[in-house]
Amino acid sequence: MNRFIIAVTAALLAAGPGLTAVTEADLANDTASTGDVLTNGMGRHLQRHSPLDTLNKENVDNLVPAWAFSLGGEKQRGQETQPIIHDGVMYITGSYSRLYAIDAKTGEELWQYDARLPEGILPCCDVVNRGAAIFGDNVYFGTLDARIVALNKDTGDVVWNKKIADYKAGYSYTAAPLIVDGLIITGNSGGEFGIVGEVQARDAETGELVWTRPVIEGHMGTLNGEESTMTGTLNATWPGDMWKTGGGATWLGGSYDAETDTLVFGTGNPAPWNSHLRDAGTPTEGNKGDNLYAASRLGIDPATGEIKWHFQTTPREGWDYDGVNEVVAYNDREGNKRYATADRNGYFYVLDRETGDFISATPFVKDISWASGIDENGRPIFVEENRPGDPTEAADGKKGEVVFASPSFLGGKNWMPMAHSPKTGLFYVPSNEWGMDIWNEPITYKKGAAYLGSGFTIKPNYEDHIGSLKAIDPDTGELKWEFKNDAPLWAGVMTTAGGLVFTGTPEGKFIAFDDETGEELWSFQTGSGIVGQPVTWEQDGEQFVTVISGWGGAVPLWGGEVAKKVNYLNQGGTLWTFRLPEQLASR
Ligand code: CA
Ligand code: CA
Repeated sequence: MNRFIIAVTAALLAAGPGLTAVTEADLANDTASTGDVLTNGMGRHLQRHSPLDTLNKENVDNLVPAWAFSLGGEKQRGQETQPIIHDGVMYITGSYSRLYAIDAKTGEELWQYDARLPEGILPCCDVVNRGAAIFGDNVYFGTLDARIVALNKDTGDVVWNKKIADYKAGYSYTAAPLIVDGLIITGNSGGEFGIVGEVQARDAETGELVWTRPVIEGHMGTLNGEESTMTGTLNATWPGDMWKTGGGATWLGGSYDAETDTLVFGTGNPAPWNSHLRDAGTPTEGNKGDNLYAASRLGIDPATGEIKWHFQTTPREGWDYDGVNEVVAYNDREGNKRYATADRNGYFYVLDRETGDFISATPFVKDISWASGIDENGRPIFVEENRPGDPTEAADGKKGEVVFASPSFLGGKNWMPMAHSPKTGLFYVPSNEWGMDIWNEPITYKKGAAYLGSGFTIKPNYEDHIGSLKAIDPDTGELKWEFKNDAPLWAGVMTTAGGLVFTGTPEGKFIAFDDETGEELWSFQTGSGIVGQPVTWEQDGEQFVTVISGWGGAVPLWGGEVAKKVNYLNQGGTLWTFRLPEQLASR
């Protein structure tokens, strides 16, 4: 009998994809295990670096398409997913909260799950999804109506489906969830609607809440169904009741640093955008108006949800620079444990990994106008005349002074993840050179309505490019090389031990660069704009590379002069997988 079961199991395993459970150890080992991609970021450090060197500078010429998969339907909007690959199955998410399981060898669909979205969802910036998570026998993803769904990874059957927050109040969900020690950890989206940013941890098996941590001071956290601690100190940095609808959406999800046992989450803009409504008289007195912990990075204890440290990139935030950008763990050239994060405000920060303390900041885009630099404590040196004016001081009381601010609210860098190469020591940062005219207006909070109190017109800073992929030395801030692109860059970046840097453009080109020189070594036209995240893995002794193509995301939703750079681009929805045939893989 036992022999029969073993034989059947072996036959099932040999027969096809799927079937083995994913463990905590598998997730912890993701970077080193080159046959799968189990985590967002290709490893918990978010370096997006593969140790594979089968494909390299010498043979990348021979990289050819293996298969393509269409997401189909009429829902061809921005495709920002990072594929997850396990046991020969690729899991991708699509626009409008869809998830697909695909045979990674053939590109055939195994199953598809379409979330039934209610009328009245309020996604601010396209109906995107940035990827799934995998653990045990389940695959997980979040939906635009602010829910988190667990599906059986082999069948697509719903295991559980839980509400993160009320979509009618403006909450949504677009990030890849995070799995740590059997917990599934999520943020939330909706910073333009006066929501309150929060991190939630659930039992991954059952979906039951374990802890919640609101990220705006004054709000109470929970642990095992009981109140735990208040976030920050009530009214320490927020005037009056403004903290109650204070924003700070944790919309990009977070990461886990196993070496310090810390979750790291970024928090978005304080709400509303009009910073004068969040000031308390003298701007810097007692740091009132800093609006903690919006526009910050937070270190959080994964067991309890307590905040261990915070670093605020933009106190008194008044330009929608958010502060959610991914935090990449790495070792500098002296072996110090560091975090790097390229903020929407235009500065590239290095932080200490144990404490979150500020180490350094250097500009990674040109023409920053809102601050003249970052002081020795990590605090911006504001250029006060470049803060959008207070409408209550305007003659008509309706429109404050218009200022030109650079970078634009879409940021020196937006959500699209940078990559690190431990081989070169460099970071490869997908950035954009653009600014905006911005002004403030009066606003009052109304549930489910936009809560900005600002207007803006976005514009390119240079005629010949907006997009700029930059190779940056984190130890010095020095720019090693730059690739300029006409349209704004909106895709993730990946590095490999083969000396390659991959990313895509809105014009549809998927490109491999030389990691040391920036020379373009290979490219492929995918037919629609690339705003997704590349991955690489090996299968049957060959190296594969996958990226999704499908133009969309936040850029085409905003007009201004930037529209001319992107209004001709075609939408799409195709997952491209490339292969280096074994006979052409000379080393
Ligand atoms: Ca792996
Ligand atoms: Ca925002």
